[in-house]
Amino acid sequence: MTERKKLTPLSEVGEFGLIDHISKHVKLKNNETIKGIGDDAAVMSYGENQMVVTTDMLIEGVHFDLMYTPLKHLGYKAVVVNLSDVFAMNAVPKQITVSLAMSGKFTLEAIDELYSGIYAACEAYNVDLVGGDTTSSVTGMAISVTAIGAVEPGKAVYRNGAKANDLICVSGDLGAAYIGLQLLEREKEVFKSNPNVQPELEGNDYILQRILKPEARGDVVELLGSKGVIPTSMMDISDGLSSELLHICKQSECGCRIYEDKIPINDAIKPMSKEMNIEPLVAALNGGEDYELLFTISQADYDKIKDNQSVTVIGHITDKTSNAFLVPKSGEEIQLVAQGWTAYNPD
Ligand code: ADP
Ligand code: MG
Repeated sequence: MTERKKLTPLSEVGEFGLIDHISKHVKLKNNETIKGIGDDAAVMSYGENQMVVTTDMLIEGVHFDLMYTPLKHLGYKAVVVNLSDVFAMNAVPKQITVSLAMSGKFTLEAIDELYSGIYAACEAYNVDLVGGDTTSSVTGMAISVTAIGAVEPGKAVYRNGAKANDLICVSGDLGAAYIGLQLLEREKEVFKSNPNVQPELEGNDYILQRILKPEARGDVVELLGSKGVIPTSMMDISDGLSSELLHICKQSECGCRIYEDKIPINDAIKPMSKEMNIEPLVAALNGGEDYELLFTISQADYDKIKDNQSVTVIGHITDKTSNAFLVPKSGEEIQLVAQGWTAYNPD
């Protein structure tokens, strides 16, 4: 009898382990490829221009639930999450392609709704829809968007450029999208057990908008450009602040120290986080889906950004002998851990 080869469940590898495993076998062959796997987008060089490319797939039942996600919002968000990755490279998005897989349950009117959101995002961010693919699926819907952007040579910002003493900055505020998602999930359970009960969503506009209709922070990239600031590293916050900071620390071979009292949290999330017993800080650190930018700047650039309302300095980079720490309002420093690093939890 031949012995069975031991197979490895993906749950043992984890999402990031899987990407590492795939990328190990990749050898870049073309001089035009400046940056391959491992950042928010790939970077390519053609003549005098550099272009960035990124792609993200959203699956019904994994990334969105059509019970509470309007199709128009879904279309908008599917585009925006990709544009966010383009901005995270310090680039400007120019084109998108959209690939769709749909089961027989969808109507033409539903697809029109979805595309009205896609067109709205194209308008809002001045990008062109230039292609895609349309196919059927056995169940549900999958949407894959690819975004292409442009950046001046030498201005692309990677995850690996942070240096000791750089300041760590975030745009906007964090944690609201996660609280919004928890609210939607709660109301869905209520509805499932009693369809006559109306969902209690009133007064929660901010957190619902953050999860259902996020925006990509092109305004922040523009602001930094206008002040002549090129961040030393940057990425967008799709998985939560802790996880993203650990990516920057790993790739930049450094540590960091961030301060609890500096992390920007909007007061609008407080009533609902209290009602649902979720610490706003935990939502900000581990929640994800905020699509804000996380970046580091050299201290010399501090004066250029310090008066800006959309940017908050939350800490600084330390050298590679130290780990990533959160300094709480009181008590001892806490080492940051990334949620979902060990479970196979694809996004
Ligand atoms: P983000 O959260 O910014 O979208 P991801 O964590 O999805 O980034 O991906 C990290 C890096 O791994 C990116 O460079 C992405 O292109 C690459 N990547 C992800 N999945 C695959 C795959 N199946 N094959 C090749 N590269 C991948
Ligand atoms: Mg990203």
